Amino acid sequence: MIVVAIDGPAGAGKSTIAKALAARLKLRYLDTGAMYRAVTFAAIQSGLDLTDQDSVSELTQKSEMILTNDTVSINGMDATKAIRGEVVTAAVSAVAANSLVRTELRQRQRQWIADHDGGVVEGRDIGSVVFPDATLKVYLTASPLVRAQRRVAQTGGIVEQIADAIAARDSQDSTRSDSPLLQTDDAVTIDTSNQSIDQVLDQIVALLPKAP
Ligand code: C5P
Repeated sequence: MIVVAIDGPAGAGKSTIAKALAARLKLRYLDTGAMYRAVTFAAIQSGLDLTDQDSVSELTQKSEMILTNDTVSINGMDATKAIRGEVVTAAVSAVAANSLVRTELRQRQRQWIADHDGGVVEGRDIGSVVFPDATLKVYLTASPLVRAQRRVAQTGGIVEQIADAIAARDSQDSTRSDSPLLQTDDAVTIDTSNQSIDQVLDQIVALLPKAP
């Protein structure tokens, strides 16, 4: 079973690279950030107080999520667009700091890997906690300016404001007590700032063990 863990901060190119890598390797792709975003969306829709850890956790446990390469739905609601919006993006790190939510989603992620016989999995804690035995662990980074510019190209906005929002989210994600964003010693770090998608993909593919 091949599992490629792609971790890194916001805007480092994880989704683009993980999707393209999965297509090249003919593996399935899982965006774990979309799961945290979907729970955040459902909690907001239900009018929950996001700081009420038990209620948000209860909702997470009850929720049915369906993720495809391009769509996300939760409890029958198509959340594909909403989970990328400003409201969810600003709130998701607080929900992701909830240990009860993390325990549930981590379990679902491991189940997904088992059900699909591996895959390319992107997130913040995939190589460190969700799948420490991954075939390959990649930590993608890019300069703060490039990361902000990429987000602006995807979703619009003002570079300085987006850069501040990204920095705030990264800080929350790196300082939480449960499975913070970190670079493990066994992960290969790739700075994508000045590289094309194909250049990054070629580097990752070259790192994978060759098929016998
Ligand atoms: O990758 P993306 O930016 O969509 O992730 C949204 C948020 O979900 C992150 O800022 C982080 O708070 C949370 N997340 C996480 N662990 C993961 C994936 C995402 O805490 N494995």
